[in-house]
Amino acid sequence: MSDCLFCKIIRKEIPSEIVYQDDFITIFKDINPAAPVHLLVIPNDHITSLQATGEEDQLLLGKLFFGAKKAAEQAGIAETGYRLIVNNGPDAHQEIPHLHLHVLGGGKMQHPMG
Ligand code: 5GP
Ligand code: ZN
Repeated sequence: MSDCLFCKIIRKEIPSEIVYQDDFITIFKDINPAAPVHLLVIPNDHITSLQATGEEDQLLLGKLFFGAKKAAEQAGIAETGYRLIVNNGPDAHQEIPHLHLHVLGGGKMQHPMG
C-alpha cells in the first residue's frame, strides 16, 4: 500500500474535500487554490506521472479528462471557462509524484501561459 500523500487522500486517511469519487478516479479541492475554483483529478491507482503511463492507461487518461469536464460543470465554471494543467517532472514543478490534472477556473486568467 502506497504511503503517497494523494493515495492517503484517496483512502481518506488524510482529510480533504472530495467532490467526486468512483472506482477509477478521485476529484478533490486543492489545499492551496491558485484560482477561485481549483480541483485536482487523480487516478485511484498510484501512477507517478503522465510520463509513467503506458498503452494500457489510455482509457484511464480519458476518464481523468472526462472527470475534469464533469467537475467543471458541477463547480459552475463550464460556461465561463477553465484551464487544465498537468505538471510533469521537475522543470514543470511537479511537487506530488501521483499523476494529477489541475482544473482551474472561476476568474479571468492571464494569457499567454508561462
Ligand atoms: P503539482 O505542483 O505537483 O502539480 O501540484 C500539487 C498540488 O497539490 C498543489 O497545487 C498543492 O497545493 C496540492 N496539495 C499538496 N498537498 C495537498 C494536500 O494535502 N491536500 C490537498 N487537497 N492538496 C494538496
Ligand atoms: Zn499515490
